[in-house]
Amino acid sequence: MKIFFYNTLTKTKEEFKPLKGNEVRIYTCGPTVYKDASIGNMKSYIFMDTLRRTLKYNGYTLKHAMNITDVGHLVSDGDDGEDKMIKSAKEENKTPLEIAEFYTQKFFEDFDRLNIDTPEIICKATDHIKEMEEFVQKLIDNGYAYETSSAIYFDVSKLDEYGILSGIDLRNQKAGARVEVDKEKRNPYDFALWIKAPENHIMKWESPWGLCYPGWHIECSTMSNKYLGEVFDIHTGGIDLVPTHHENEIAQSKGCTGKIPAKFWMHCEFLLINGGKMSKSLGNVYLVKDIIDKGYDPLAFKMMCFTSHYRNKLNFTWDAIASSQNALNRLRDGYKRHSEGNEKIDENIIEEYKTKFQEAINDDLNMPVAMSVVWDVVKNPNKSKQLANLLLDFDKVLGVDIQKENEQKNLNLPDEINNLLEQRKQARENKDWSLSDKIRDELKEKGYIVKDTKEGTTVERI
Ligand code: AMP
Ligand code: ZN
Repeated sequence: MKIFFYNTLTKTKEEFKPLKGNEVRIYTCGPTVYKDASIGNMKSYIFMDTLRRTLKYNGYTLKHAMNITDVGHLVSDGDDGEDKMIKSAKEENKTPLEIAEFYTQKFFEDFDRLNIDTPEIICKATDHIKEMEEFVQKLIDNGYAYETSSAIYFDVSKLDEYGILSGIDLRNQKAGARVEVDKEKRNPYDFALWIKAPENHIMKWESPWGLCYPGWHIECSTMSNKYLGEVFDIHTGGIDLVPTHHENEIAQSKGCTGKIPAKFWMHCEFLLINGGKMSKSLGNVYLVKDIIDKGYDPLAFKMMCFTSHYRNKLNFTWDAIASSQNALNRLRDGYKRHSEGNEKIDENIIEEYKTKFQEAINDDLNMPVAMSVVWDVVKNPNKSKQLANLLLDFDKVLGVDIQKENEQKNLNLPDEINNLLEQRKQARENKDWSLSDKIRDELKEKGYIVKDTKEGTTVERI
């Protein structure tokens, strides 16, 4: 079956075919490991997971590299400000290496919790300093880079088409529109490839241009080239990377090899919190751990991501996660009920469901449509093992562990709370509303809020 993906580079949905045989080569911009990854970051990696699983479902093998940024990403996302790793190391009184190891491990714990299929190759920027230096040298040799007293810059005026991904037209950019930190820069959009380290800078390496550290963008061009070749199939990341990081990656690769490094560029839209931005100052930077601490299965967040297309913004609220938990419970219950059934379903009907599901995922990973097929199967009144097996097959793409038992104790609640919830359930079944309300108040006193929605009862910690 054909696959179509939206390509940010051409701004159209195009048919996808691997460049080489049956193998799909993918590069994903990984985390900057200076702090905990937020659920916003995880939305982007859930998209990456769905992409991997969809390609595998279609029978392809994958060679997928994801970097770990442990040097060079400055606080401004541009060429000024402190390195995020060093800033965090100072704040936490640790070395940058300790910070990187600590947050890398936590990052992959979240991958496990969210059942995210990990790329085949994980590569760290600091393990590739020599290769990056060679890449920079090549750009100088090819006439695309120049040295100032503080850095080696990429000269964007040397490319006929800088801005191809984001649509920036350099001719319309007023000189001085950006506040320059380095007066020796030739053009406002020139960006640092290699930065000369000030004396007290912690992370720095010997190089032909003195003690330096790499810029943020060079690592991805270098590592994608090393592991996947000059041109590979798909490059992914969050939407914020389009006008900066990815535009500059394209510039670097064009300067080095003359080629745009990936055929397809796919980007995930942002997660919003209560309709707005996630920010430290608003105190609304939520982690996967926060979802678990409130008593939810982290995979409820994955279910929530499937309610919208990856190219749309998604709004996170605690009410939305409560309904996604209910949806996850219904899915697991539905699977269980089908697996206990013995009715015979016509194979054509099974094939029809399967085709509809595959058409949806192959249509630029359209998960809301794919989920509507999943619900049709769950709601099929004929309880059948064939349908249970079909749901298991779909779970290869969803990765939400549909075989997991649905019990309140799975929500990591203390026994005392589980007992009260059970008593309240009984009271409600007996239509003893006053007892049910009394138990709800008792739970509240103990720090748990109970909500009755049309899909069932949810509980979360206050
Ligand atoms: P970082 O660790 O900041 O380099 O970001 C890792 C990935 O998460 C990048 O692909 C970002 O574009 C993406 N990202 C950051 N914030 C969000 C958000 N709120 N929603 C979706 N993706 C995000
Ligand atoms: Zn990158």
